[in-house]
Amino acid sequence: MNNLLTRFEETGALLNGHFELRSGLHSNRFFQCALLLQYPRIAGEVCEALVEKIKQDLGELEIDTVIAPALGGISVGHEVGRALGVRFIFAEKDAGGALMMRRFKIEKGERFLVAEDVITRGGRVQETVDIVEQHGGIVQAIGVLVNRSGGKARFKAPLVSLLEMEPVAWEPSECPLCKEKLPLVHPGS
Ligand SMILES: [Zn+2]
Repeated sequence: MNNLLTRFEETGALLNGHFELRSGLHSNRFFQCALLLQYPRIAGEVCEALVEKIKQDLGELEIDTVIAPALGGISVGHEVGRALGVRFIFAEKDAGGALMMRRFKIEKGERFLVAEDVITRGGRVQETVDIVEQHGGIVQAIGVLVNRSGGKARFKAPLVSLLEMEPVAWEPSECPLCKEKLPLVHPGS
């Protein structure tokens, strides 16, 4: 989908500034995917495009269920599940902040697609993969809207992303925007 970036800009989902990412890294760009996904029709179109790309890249996969990490992945997982015509569930945080399976059941041998909006290091996707495997499920593939990892996020299962952005992210100690004393924004807080 060539106009995905346009969609991001139109909906205000791609911001320029000085941001602290979920991973702790600093960046000059931030994807507020929720602002793109707040329009169900756009969310549906974008996720259909992701599903088409997954089919192009990986062929027809046997998927029983889509799973996403809450909260960020929920809209994407829901729409990807709709496009595939399968069940959708999510993993959510426990009191300590670790992802867990709280309200859904995973069957032994159940085949999963893991969906997420944006990955930088892919930590939450990996946690979700671990949860599926701990419950006896099989992860067939991972589908994300935006891959900011610069090819560094790798998983046992193949990863497909709609959009790959050059990773413009720094450790806080090396951040040029900190050196310029630009105010740091914590998106989502
Ligand atoms: Zn900084």
